[in-house]
Amino acid sequence: MAPRLKKSAILVFTLTLAVAILIPVLLRFIPYETRTHHISLKAKKYGYSPSRIVVNRGDTIVLKPTSLDVTHGFLLDGYPVEFIIKQQGLNFLKYDWKDDDGNLQTDWDKVNEIEFVADKSGKFTFRCFQTCGNLHPFMTGELIVRPNTAYHLFISLSVWLTLSLLWLFRVSSGPLFAGFKKINLLDRLPWLKRIVKLRSFQFLVILPNFVVFYLFILSALWGSPVGNRNIAIIFVWIAWWFMLKAIIVPLGGRFWCMICPLPAPAEWLSRRSLTAVRYLQKPFKGLHHRFTGLQKDWPKRISNIWLQNFLFLAMISFGIILITRPIATAFLFLLILAATLVLALIYRQRVFCLYLCPVGGFLGTYSMASMSEIRVIDPEVCRKHKEKSCYVGGEGGWACPWKQYPGKMKRNNYCGLCTECIKSCPKDNIGVFMRPFGSDRALKGYDEMFNAIIMLVVAIAFSVTMLGPWGFIKEAANVTESRQIIPFLIYLASLWGLTLLVVPGLFALTTKGAGRLAGGGINHRALTLRLAYILIPLGIFFWIAFSLPPIMTNYSYILSVLSDPLGLGWDIFGTANYSFKPFIPEWIPVIQGFLLLAGIYFGLTRGYLAIGELIKDPRSRAMAMILPSLFALFVVNVLAKLYMG
Ligand code: SF4
Ligand code: SF4
Repeated sequence: MAPRLKKSAILVFTLTLAVAILIPVLLRFIPYETRTHHISLKAKKYGYSPSRIVVNRGDTIVLKPTSLDVTHGFLLDGYPVEFIIKQQGLNFLKYDWKDDDGNLQTDWDKVNEIEFVADKSGKFTFRCFQTCGNLHPFMTGELIVRPNTAYHLFISLSVWLTLSLLWLFRVSSGPLFAGFKKINLLDRLPWLKRIVKLRSFQFLVILPNFVVFYLFILSALWGSPVGNRNIAIIFVWIAWWFMLKAIIVPLGGRFWCMICPLPAPAEWLSRRSLTAVRYLQKPFKGLHHRFTGLQKDWPKRISNIWLQNFLFLAMISFGIILITRPIATAFLFLLILAATLVLALIYRQRVFCLYLCPVGGFLGTYSMASMSEIRVIDPEVCRKHKEKSCYVGGEGGWACPWKQYPGKMKRNNYCGLCTECIKSCPKDNIGVFMRPFGSDRALKGYDEMFNAIIMLVVAIAFSVTMLGPWGFIKEAANVTESRQIIPFLIYLASLWGLTLLVVPGLFALTTKGAGRLAGGGINHRALTLRLAYILIPLGIFFWIAFSLPPIMTNYSYILSVLSDPLGLGWDIFGTANYSFKPFIPEWIPVIQGFLLLAGIYFGLTRGYLAIGELIKDPRSRAMAMILPSLFALFVVNVLAKLYMG
């Protein structure tokens, strides 16, 4: 960008940003009439009625609660309002007082009504804190105190950011958003190189995970059937899920595949070795190893991630059951373990991970954006090296278990980071690189595009089902307890219809329009696949925004299950009765808002770079970005409405 243009761009951005902030802030000064709301609040597994209370700042709220089934709690984020709701209008309000020594004491007062003034504006969640059943952690309602400035600010900033980026795409002809140069960590950190070159490296990183994971299975089978009292549920679906989405995938891509304990026994069985390489001088079926079993190759026809897409959809159709019932979690893990063992006896290499693992599909797609990669250092060295030990196996390492040839590998999707190629390469030509976020930008097929769409829609669907205040949706999804077959079928039809028809259809129309706006003559398939890259950074931030509230609100369960992992009344570390206390819950919507804005920024900028190779003319490229940007702005605002509105 020319210096003069750069100056005027900064000026325009600053002025428009000031306007984007000022408008929602000024809305705060519109005078509201205050009044008193008398609300009869009914609590019933797993929701409140009304589920959403909307008032003006300064209004007085008088709640008359009662439970229609078991004992529930009501803990309001951001306000000192906490009470227990029992049947027939019997309630106990928590209050604090100081004893003669100045120590804070807590008591419960029997009350019929609870009155407070809504003196803070914004969106506040109220949640049950009495374990009331399987879906207890998701029993929530919402209090909206107008003016909801944080939400108005989000809308304004999301529009500003989208329009600013579109304008930047239009006025800039030079390279944008290039990021930093790749860094080879094995060069910078010689100790790391020594460690990953060890034959036992992968075994040693799997081992602790292996022990813990299989203990979790035991706890899921024999521990408490109540999800939030069982370590398997709390660690797998709250702690691990958050770590995976928010840290492991954005930074390390398929790092989880490197340490995953589920396919490990199958791989050890197939290799008949825990660490050593069994090298054959004369190759067998193209590889320098013999494996246990039939050693077939996976059929070419299904060498894609369609099966993973459908298996993931099937799994998340029962998502709310899976993540709240220890027995369902144990069943899933045992099923995966059995599948990997059977497949290892029929096929060679990691076919389960490549083509079937429901988690593996999105790990692959999202790892395209991750900040690390394993790649060759100099492709020319590979070209001249006839043996291709990384691909066919060498004395130092197994043939790539993920069937990748690093010499030509340009994307992270199907590299399980097993580090075998680092050991098998006799030329020391493989590195572990740090790179800018969103570096692999070419989707290769519609299976990958559908994976990105499925992940995006499921993040929204889970947000509605699990984080939303609608008890009837939770009941529909929770079919094994509610026994509501027809609502469950409607829930399934909506989920599958949105992921496989409605959203892909809308996206296809968007990319069709993008091709026209860019002046036509661009291969539609190629453009669609390139533009679909926008959905990957966007999806990653959607999932971080979705995974954040469960960890911030339920972290106290982590402390309790550590002391009582099976829910059998133990108190190993003295934290078994750690009281339920969400961590700064009133800030959750604001943090989610920032995450969604980051999703727009990374989605659009990386999408713009993705179409760079396809559309050379900068003007056409900018035009091609208009409709997909509006699509991204729309879906982001759908999620923002759920989280903040
Ligand atoms: S063994 Fe090393 S040099 Fe040879 S093809 Fe593989 S990565 Fe390249
Ligand atoms: S490319 Fe290298 S690190 Fe990646 S899966 Fe294959 S052997 Fe493992």
